[in-house]
Amino acid sequence: MKPPIYCICDEKLKDMNDGGLIDFKKRLSDIEWEKHMEKIKGVGHPPYAEWFCKKHYDKASELKHLPIDKALKILMSEGT
Ligand SMILES: [Zn+2]
Repeated sequence: MKPPIYCICDEKLKDMNDGGLIDFKKRLSDIEWEKHMEKIKGVGHPPYAEWFCKKHYDKASELKHLPIDKALKILMSEGT
């Protein structure tokens, strides 16, 4: 399991109420990942989900209709 670390800020999650996990639009590879996990009854951090701090949560949430790689690129290019 991936330890909760905020995306963009790269800070460790201290308080669950300080931010949140956002599920982005699933890419084909993400759907395949889910199918694979189901088959092996595995658990893991979904490749299409990421933790965000309070500061970035709202902005990231606005981009959740995009696949995670595109959304992160936008968030990073806008700076912190
Ligand atoms: Zn942040």
